[in-house]
Amino acid sequence: MMTKETERQAKTGISKTQADCSARQQLWEVLLNATSDLFFLEREQLRAALDGTIAPERFGTPLQNAQSRKHQAQNAYLEHIEQHGCWE
Ligand SMILES: [Zn+2]
Repeated sequence: MMTKETERQAKTGISKTQADCSARQQLWEVLLNATSDLFFLEREQLRAALDGTIAPERFGTPLQNAQSRKHQAQNAYLEHIEQHGCWE
């Protein structure tokens, strides 16, 4: 039986075009942006909690939004490279 893993291995190394996939690079940038937004909010939340200047619950919704955007970006990226086989 041909698993997805062996399919991927079979594809790896045969296609330079797939390794340079621009769709993957785009998804990667979206993921990086979403990840850095999330880190920023988490850092701000931590700082606010330490200072006691801003109620931590103020961050609830933006933080959840950032987390869900990061998850979506991550899933989209992983799904793409799995289906397209475009990684080094
Ligand atoms: Zn691709």
